[in-house]
Amino acid sequence: MEPVMLQLWQRAFRRLHRTLILPKRFDSGCAEQAAVPASAPSCGRKPVLLVSRLYQPSNLRDVAQDSRLPGEMSCKSQRLMQQAGLIHPSSPGCYYYLPATIRSMEKLVRVIDQEMQGIGGQKLDMPSLCSADLWKTSERWDLMGKELFRLKDRHGADYCLGPTHEEAVTTLVAHQATLSYRQLPLLLYQITRKFRDEPKPKFGLLRGREFYMKDMYSFDVSEEAAHQTYESVCQAYTRLFTRLGLRCVQVQADTGNIGGKLSHEFQLPADIGEDRLLVCGSCSFSANVETMSSDQSNCPQCETGKLVESKGIEVGHTFYLGKKYSHIFKATFSNAQNKPAVAEMGCYGLGVTRILAAAVEVMSTEEGIRWPGLIAPYQVCVLPPKKGSKVDEATLLAEELVQALGETLPQLRGEVVLDDRTQMTIGKRLKDASKLGYPYVIVVGQGALEETPRFEVICQQTGETVFLSRDGLLDLLGRVETV
Ligand SMILES: [Zn+2]
Repeated sequence: MEPVMLQLWQRAFRRLHRTLILPKRFDSGCAEQAAVPASAPSCGRKPVLLVSRLYQPSNLRDVAQDSRLPGEMSCKSQRLMQQAGLIHPSSPGCYYYLPATIRSMEKLVRVIDQEMQGIGGQKLDMPSLCSADLWKTSERWDLMGKELFRLKDRHGADYCLGPTHEEAVTTLVAHQATLSYRQLPLLLYQITRKFRDEPKPKFGLLRGREFYMKDMYSFDVSEEAAHQTYESVCQAYTRLFTRLGLRCVQVQADTGNIGGKLSHEFQLPADIGEDRLLVCGSCSFSANVETMSSDQSNCPQCETGKLVESKGIEVGHTFYLGKKYSHIFKATFSNAQNKPAVAEMGCYGLGVTRILAAAVEVMSTEEGIRWPGLIAPYQVCVLPPKKGSKVDEATLLAEELVQALGETLPQLRGEVVLDDRTQMTIGKRLKDASKLGYPYVIVVGQGALEETPRFEVICQQTGETVFLSRDGLLDLLGRVETV
């Protein structure tokens, strides 16, 4: 590293170190204020998250009337997310993910981690820059056609930006000469950026050229064991969508260019979905249209039910691969007889950024975003009265409430924002809060000044408004689940 850069790094590191090691300075003084841009620590207090300081550049302008926002608004989630300053378009199919989106995505990643590790998954991270040699060995270098982003390094060697990592992970496992049947099933997964040269990127984060995906790969001793692993991953996916409160159907699917024998898609029914599904009205059967013959109108499972067509957004995909890749790359283990045997594989994808956008797509109203509660960027927004209004003195109560919530309810630490834009009316700020979709909005006004203080609470997911005492409020918010 060049000396100047090294110096800069050292200085940056010392600064970072200081902030991490000495968090008390935030509490006891205002000297470090600049280091926490979204919060303004008043002396002697914990920092409060202020709406006026959050970096959301579009700042809730009406996108339809705003020519400064580039990109064609092709669906609700894209329009709402751009309008709320959650994403910002860069080039076709590529977006800036702004801070609120990152909060939401990090929560989603934690839920995914819990579910994947719950079935024995171990997280790793593989290079995005994949050598063409691997892809040529599996013959997918040619098979993938124009979807693959290809590039050359300075020595003229071919690479691609990985859209999926069957080749890479199988090679990795093949390198371990001592893998024993006792270590199987082995489930390895990563959550990383993926690249696909989409001919027509559209629908915001739903069909981009650069996106986040969770991809897991399983290695088993036998076909039977591989099917059990396959089943446990499908169950984990179902649990994940249940926890998010998203209705998801598991449909039989085509195996496409991944290869293999058994495959399912996890689809969120939605009008803008690009996949056509056939769902039985009588039993649990559902399939992607691509896998069915075009004249089939009766259910192949129960035989009596009629198949109804609906559209879906594909958010997950599972494949049983058999020995397709393990055979090519020689991923073997030593079996109970101490003989080398080829592993049985499966691969399992989840579109992380796609789940975010799809959730916004199916849960939101036309006017505002509604999140699955677990992954909302912030859980609570507190609105103090307008500056100079008759109930101005409630402002202090609002600030105290934000402090108290963070102290009394540990799961809400860092989840409560104060809309300090008190030059705006409560009505205007309520409208903004509705657009952003905080699960709970608390209005601190006249009621808070009464002898028995009352707070107006708007539960945005249900559309309900309730008036609660301080204890009632703590009780309600105490039940909020965060991750
Ligand atoms: Zn049926």
